[in-house]
Amino acid sequence: MAQFQQKARPMAKMRRKSDLPEKPCAHCQRPFTWRKKWEKVWDEVKYCSDRCRGEAKRGALG
Ligand SMILES: [Zn+2]
Repeated sequence: MAQFQQKARPMAKMRRKSDLPEKPCAHCQRPFTWRKKWEKVWDEVKYCSDRCRGEAKRGALG
């Protein structure tokens, strides 16, 4: 018998922007905030998203 369980996930309620560093995206110029996945490469991160990084590499002007 299949039983569907709903796990109650603890939601992140922290909304302290000032706690996290941020910098402007080198592609879209929009500021983006530090993310957990960047904790080891934050200095190397230049783009807000994979999409921006991809477009920047390709060259948006193609
Ligand atoms: Zn961007």
